[in-house]
Amino acid sequence: MDKKAGFNTKMVHGGIDIDQFGSANVPIYQSSTFAFRSAKQGADRFAGKEEGYIYTRIANPTIKALENNIAALENGYGAIATSSGMGAVTSIYMGILEQGSHMISTASVYGPSRVIMEKYFSKFGVESSYVDTSSIENIISHIKPNTKMLYLETPSNPTMQLSDIKACAQIAKQHNMILVVDNTFSSPYLQSPLDLGADISFHSVTKFINGHADIVGGIIITKTEELYKKVRPMMVNLGFNMDPHQAYMVLRGVKTLSIRIEKAQESAAIIASWLEKHPKLEWVKYPGLKSHPQHELAKQQMRGFGTMISFGLKGGLKAGETLMDNMKLALLAVSLGGVETLIQHPASMTHSAVPREERIKAGISDGLVRLAVGIENVEDQLADLEQALNKC
Ligand SMILES: *Cc1c(COP(=O)(O)O)cnc(C)c1O
Repeated sequence: MDKKAGFNTKMVHGGIDIDQFGSANVPIYQSSTFAFRSAKQGADRFAGKEEGYIYTRIANPTIKALENNIAALENGYGAIATSSGMGAVTSIYMGILEQGSHMISTASVYGPSRVIMEKYFSKFGVESSYVDTSSIENIISHIKPNTKMLYLETPSNPTMQLSDIKACAQIAKQHNMILVVDNTFSSPYLQSPLDLGADISFHSVTKFINGHADIVGGIIITKTEELYKKVRPMMVNLGFNMDPHQAYMVLRGVKTLSIRIEKAQESAAIIASWLEKHPKLEWVKYPGLKSHPQHELAKQQMRGFGTMISFGLKGGLKAGETLMDNMKLALLAVSLGGVETLIQHPASMTHSAVPREERIKAGISDGLVRLAVGIENVEDQLADLEQALNKC
């Protein structure tokens, strides 16, 4: 496919070769193993002298089509599909870090991305610091001689804080750090970390890329062949491979990625402005609002402001619980990026086990609510919020 093709064209056709039957969709190659025609062919495949498939944990035609598609969307050298977003995170950590390495990461990073580092990787002598990565000076002040990786989640969850990818790429280069960006919240449609100078971008495809709340998966995109060769064996040998059926579902989802995001994003902008005027709320965080402290950065590094909104209820914990119990259209659920609107209240749900003081220190107040806007009619989404907020 033409490298200069537009995003939607790549979304529909990128990486997809029409098979011998002219099948419009990539078939599900539901096979764990692939037969060789001769001993020589088997030997050549293992030696990498001949292209072809050996075993599905290593590679599979359906999964390969998805990898090529996403690599095209993110302008990467290649992509590595994984069983889950966390399979992607683990493969990246394993591929890049060594015993004694240090990593700097966004403070409000996705919970398990921090848990596996602090609980498990620390057993092998890997150190990590969780800092405010929205400030370049602050990142620089945490760099140590053994810092190998700078890991950003932008926008981050649920604080909706941004980090400047271009500026981080510059300091990463100066200090020999690999710059990794968790691009889940933006999807390839709204943000291109590799074009902004990052070395590795990855997604939980569970969210926007698949977009239909029916599978869990992940994908890693590397800028160079060298990094691809460092990370891919981690997926293969640790067994973080995707399944062919999973890949088929994601290929189906990705074909409408931009259309789903455009629709939900249009509603998100309307809802965010509406919420900002609501008397029951203390604050609203959405990168598209002028009141967002990094609105200008969002305009520069993102092609749209996304579908995630967080807001603070004046009534705190009690109001949060009341809001949850009265939402009728929105599902009370974690996750995001699907066609359906989801709402969750971290203090009583995802973060209820975290001691209150620690939770508040991480920017998650009692009244914080996270809204993942779906593609329903905006009038219905607003009416749902209105009737539930009236009870808070
Ligand atoms: C969901 C999520 C992950 C983890 O992905 P899974 O597919 O659930 O393993 C990582 N990062 C972010 C930002 C996420 O939202």
